[in-house]
Amino acid sequence: MRKQIAAANWKMNLGYQQGEKLLDEILAADIHLGLSQYVIFAVPFPYLIMTRSEVEEEKNYEVAAQNCYDQRSGAFTGEVSCEMLHSIGVNYCIVGHSERRQYFNESNKQLADKVGLCLEYFITPIFCCGEALSVRESGGQNDFVATQLKESLFHLSPEKIKDIIIAYEPVWAIGTGKTASTAQAQEMHAHIRSIIKGHYGQAIAEEVSILYGGSVKASNAKELFHCPDVDGGLVGGASLMSAEFIEIIRALKRNAKL
Ligand code: PEP
Repeated sequence: MRKQIAAANWKMNLGYQQGEKLLDEILAADIHLGLSQYVIFAVPFPYLIMTRSEVEEEKNYEVAAQNCYDQRSGAFTGEVSCEMLHSIGVNYCIVGHSERRQYFNESNKQLADKVGLCLEYFITPIFCCGEALSVRESGGQNDFVATQLKESLFHLSPEKIKDIIIAYEPVWAIGTGKTASTAQAQEMHAHIRSIIKGHYGQAIAEEVSILYGGSVKASNAKELFHCPDVDGGLVGGASLMSAEFIEIIRALKRNAKL
């Protein structure tokens, strides 16, 4: 049974006290998740320990880092390793968000190394992929995403790929208010699953969770999460507002795929 997930990506937003208040408000909604449903808060590095202890008592509420480095340890001032994340009980990490690819020139190869290190330290990577507007306009989105997956994930064994979460985030929909239609999301998610199936077989492809990201909000979460190959969402802007994110969690809960 694959995981269904509402993941919050706070990015570089909120002071510490604001973050604590937001978490308190969301947890106060007391939403009990189904067996394979998860809420994951990807918070800035300095808030990881606080967030982990806030969610510790809550079943299936988890914390994620937004990034990690592609080397084990050493003279890399300012970077954070997978070993460090593991040592403070972080079980998830976003890898390859489009903002990292765009502003920090992260390549598919570098992301392959990050994914490998995460898994070595028992951290589930939330691997982001997705095409820019120009790629979609030229109709090249399927090949573009296939290459991202092949170059960053297909070095993994079948046992390891099952532990990956993929987030399809069309770059043109991130922070723009433009959401992919349910048809566009379902089509790409089915495509991603078929690429995994082509390499690893049907049974494995069915186990990989694929989240949609790109202007998910309370008003569109329900229909997006209803798509058969959409296993939840990675949410930026709307995850910074408690009322919005609470509704997104409720949409996930209502869409339990049993
Ligand atoms: C994101 O940051 O991953 C994201 C999808 O942002 P937003 O929801 O704001 O588009």
